[in-house]
Amino acid sequence: MNQPAPNLSQLKVVRDHNRAFEEYLYVYPVISRRSRGLSLGVNLNPDKRCNFDCIYCEVDRRTPPRTTVLDVPRMREELRDLVRRVRRGELAGLGRFAEAADLTRDIKDIAFSGDGEPTMIPNFCECVQAVVEVKLAEGLAHTKIVLITDAAGLDKADVRRGLELMDQHQGEIWGKLDAGTEAYYRLVNRSPVQFARILKNLLETARVRPIVIQSLFLRVHGEVMPEAELLAYCQRLQELVQQGAQIKEVHAYTVARPTPEPFATALTAGELEAIAQTIRARTGLVVHTFP
Ligand code: SF4
Repeated sequence: MNQPAPNLSQLKVVRDHNRAFEEYLYVYPVISRRSRGLSLGVNLNPDKRCNFDCIYCEVDRRTPPRTTVLDVPRMREELRDLVRRVRRGELAGLGRFAEAADLTRDIKDIAFSGDGEPTMIPNFCECVQAVVEVKLAEGLAHTKIVLITDAAGLDKADVRRGLELMDQHQGEIWGKLDAGTEAYYRLVNRSPVQFARILKNLLETARVRPIVIQSLFLRVHGEVMPEAELLAYCQRLQELVQQGAQIKEVHAYTVARPTPEPFATALTAGELEAIAQTIRARTGLVVHTFP
């Protein structure tokens, strides 16, 4: 049974997913609505590279990266250090976390997320191994490891090995699906990767273990997703399920932070809920909204 998401929307800190945290290069704490509390982010793309170019992307690519190198031993040490600081209750005393002090001691998950697409790196499995080591050494055996991904690299051999390792350690994959057609996918995600490959990767990944589908809905030039596109999106989900994909739930969310394209804007809570209702009615899937 899925627990309803606590209402964290009123907190300013949930809008602040700043990935520059003190002297750390790779890890950062956030209060995340979709994680329902404290999530420790692991940025595997300090160089800010991505194979998507979403019109709503929140990554600040105007500011030069602090490093372009992924140093796995340092990432492991930073994560270990951050976990220990959380345990000592230090986050609660830091300015932006004060309003959510009671959420800052319980690590809901460790999430591969960041300034680009985690599956693009050549050593994803090694990074999963590093996080697993910290989890086990620090007594976080039951803490989830989340991979937030655009799904383009889920078919790579090294990534598949990493996913198998995640499966053994409370792994959960949140795969992006923002469109129902190639045309809308190109409009919103602007990726050179074929839409069919994204769908195939989601299918093959979800045949092996249940996954979460994460979908951002927005206004593009003032227009919400056209009805035909929403029905096509629902159809893609139905096809995935019919072909054997296990979809645990759908996260429907909208723009929460400044976008690189001024024509990409947020939906209202009502508009997002109306979309969620259509998805539930058409697919029978559990849909949580995060306006
Ligand atoms: S997949 Fe994520 S990081 Fe990449 S462009 Fe889209 S929103 Fe940005």
